[in-house]
Amino acid sequence: MLDRTLTINGEQAAAETTFEVRNPSTGELVGHAPNATEETLNAAVAAAKAAFPNWAATPDEERQSLCRRIVEVLGENSEELAELITREQGKPLNGAGSRWEVGGAQAWAAHTAELTLPVKVLQDDENGYLTLHRRPLGVVGSITPWNFPLMIAVWHVLPALRTGNTVVIKPSPHTPLATLRMVELVSALLPPGVLNIVTGDDKAVNLGALMSAHPDIRKIVFTGSCATGQRVMQNAAQTMKRLTLEMGGNDAGIVLPDADPDAIAEDLFWGAFINNGQTCAAMKRLYVHESIHDAVCDALVAYARNVPVGDGMDEASILGPVQNKAQFDKLKRLVDDAKTKGQVLLGGTPGEGLFFPPTLIAGLSNGDALVDEEQFGPALPIIRYSDVEQALADANALETGLGGSVWSRDKEAARALAARMECGSVWINKHGAIQPNAPFGGVKQSGLGVEFGEEGLAEYTDIQVVFS
Ligand code: NAD
Repeated sequence: MLDRTLTINGEQAAAETTFEVRNPSTGELVGHAPNATEETLNAAVAAAKAAFPNWAATPDEERQSLCRRIVEVLGENSEELAELITREQGKPLNGAGSRWEVGGAQAWAAHTAELTLPVKVLQDDENGYLTLHRRPLGVVGSITPWNFPLMIAVWHVLPALRTGNTVVIKPSPHTPLATLRMVELVSALLPPGVLNIVTGDDKAVNLGALMSAHPDIRKIVFTGSCATGQRVMQNAAQTMKRLTLEMGGNDAGIVLPDADPDAIAEDLFWGAFINNGQTCAAMKRLYVHESIHDAVCDALVAYARNVPVGDGMDEASILGPVQNKAQFDKLKRLVDDAKTKGQVLLGGTPGEGLFFPPTLIAGLSNGDALVDEEQFGPALPIIRYSDVEQALADANALETGLGGSVWSRDKEAARALAARMECGSVWINKHGAIQPNAPFGGVKQSGLGVEFGEEGLAEYTDIQVVFS
């Protein structure tokens, strides 16, 4: 049994009450996480606030070498962290699962450690010397979701620390354990109060809402659903917090008539089904030209039916269960509705517990719930089109705009169409591939701001211009 504690001001702290964390593959109890009260949150914010002046004044090279040390510590503890992720999140150890997630966390941390935001000279002449500086903000509040609990935590925490901010992080109630352990390990490298964590079950107390309105938190970096992101923005208005909001998506892929169905099937599948579809920038709607529609469907089914689905702790599993009951119920509702409107090519019937097989449903169109709503699970709607302009209009018709993709043998034609997709990232012949040097964020209602790269790092700072 894993009963973890909070880290506040460099010390391990228990809470009066705890909540259960269960393995979505088996329903077994994995451990307990502390149920922090408002007072506990205030203590964490006060510790971060007190630690800020010294941390902000720490020489940049020192912060950089501590960030490099964090990368090593993640590596030294990678197997323990991967097992924790698998047991609380459900994703398999293998494939693009928990070991891959820990590796990704390390890769992002390593890249962030090497980034800098140099002083810019804006003017240097007889009329003046003007320099632009990037100053840390103060206490950053990080709120994370349950799909990539560790990697997203690292995406939030590392750039905040790198730029001289202190942090209070709050993971999802569904997946608090790996983040609690990571913060315990990382905070031991840092001065007390620089990195703190609170967890709660979102029942009596909603820590995320309290953080969004907290007068001593200067920025919220939030990854989660559109509805919650909007609440964060409302609650943050009073204190004019800086915000990075990475919210939901409903990414479209458009397959052009010249694509080779057999050659793209595997990448189409993983573009949609990575992490069992529980990925913000997964392909969630697939538009296929009528001339190759059936061939693409056949190739997808042929690939998908051989992907091993099972208990995440089984080394042979490549996909696991849906992470939680609410998500499972939403997926089932959308698939049940789609079954009445289209043709089920594969899957469609829930398995044991939270298992849901990879599901492909053709014959759908915009207006059907599985197309219009973010399913965030292993079910892909396939839409047949005859006119590419109509496919583009349908792809752009929704209010979200995280990612998109175009599939074609003609890269020029694909790039031309990609440029007209309304989304923050667009891929040719793949979907969802993100990297630490490429700013990532959504347009329209998928969010505000970006993460990664210098542009992402800059979001943890305010600009100060010095006129001399
Ligand atoms: P969620 O919005 O339900 O929860 C996210 C976090 O917000 C959790 O930690 C939760 O406890 C907290 N929270 C709950 N109420 C809050 C409130 N009132 N104020 C502040 N915080 C509050 O999201 P989820 O179900 O955990 O994650 C799935 C969603 O996240 C999907 O829509 C997915 O597309 C999105 N997502 C986006 C990205 C991205 O980078 N854009 C990445 C991963 C997931």
